Amino acid sequence: MLFNKDLLGDEVVDVTWTATQKQRLSELNADETLYDCVFPDTAAREKHFKQLERELVKKNKEQLMALKNTSLRPLLCQLESKLVDRLTKEGFVQVVTPILLSKGMLNKMTITSEHPLVKQVFWVDKDKCLRPMLAPNLYHLLKDLRRLWGKPVKIFEVGPCFRKESQGAYHLNEFTMLNLVELNDFDGQQEDRLRELAAIVMDAVGIRDYKLVKDECHVYGNTIDVISGELELGSGAYGPHELDSSWGIIDPWVGIGFGLERLVVTVKGHKNIHRAGRSLSYLDGARLNI
Ligand code: ATP
Ligand code: MG
Repeated sequence: MLFNKDLLGDEVVDVTWTATQKQRLSELNADETLYDCVFPDTAAREKHFKQLERELVKKNKEQLMALKNTSLRPLLCQLESKLVDRLTKEGFVQVVTPILLSKGMLNKMTITSEHPLVKQVFWVDKDKCLRPMLAPNLYHLLKDLRRLWGKPVKIFEVGPCFRKESQGAYHLNEFTMLNLVELNDFDGQQEDRLRELAAIVMDAVGIRDYKLVKDECHVYGNTIDVISGELELGSGAYGPHELDSSWGIIDPWVGIGFGLERLVVTVKGHKNIHRAGRSLSYLDGARLNI
């Protein structure tokens, strides 16, 4: 409630949405500017709410019909296909690795008991967890493929990853990671290659408004993040790196990981990532409970 003084100096109360109404508007993906509406009285508010809800429900239904009749696949799946097409054209080989990860593999990433990321790990039993990232498996493959294929080794995986997150608007407990890795001679130009790879991914999904920002992370130290607006879409790193020796890697490499749901959020302008994630409440960004 907002309090104003009217011209006579008496206190008047502005009528705004109730918490339940706001919640409903958010579920129906109402534009944020509509949240701040002020009404002369509750009757006006109720009338306006009914009308707005009707319009938003109609829009949601239209989105679900478009999925049924036209696109047939959620944008997340479409982006995944576009990325697979594009990366294979660029000579990257798709790999599919286990979702269950051993404690030993996590430890080799230096994610041991003192590490902050360890609190985010879903343990299946005392030696196995749901992978929080793709990097350990890709690191493991790099060594064998380097031996069998020689240089370059260019691989990528798209698949589920799991992290316990204190739920925010841009974190999911289960999300879809795309991770690409290239082991090659870069003549010391790893950062440039990382920029090129980020550009390839952004171009494939049609995101033009992004920037690269140097950052630090717990696992790799220095990273180069891909940011759109305020949101981190991906994080890149490169070697030679101190982790390499544990994995038997001696060649230079670059790698970059993206969250596919965050790409969807950016393409669609969603204000909440749950709309884009695995869900029983949303389908392709549209609310089912309408
Ligand atoms: P953040 O700082 O936003 O929590 P992060 O730096 O921990 O992300 P990375 O480990 O760099 O994440 O993972 C690579 C990418 O995976 C991120 O840039 C992001 O797009 C995506 N990602 C990571 N965690 C999540 C999550 N919980 N839900 C959705 N996407 C995620
Ligand atoms: Mg990151």
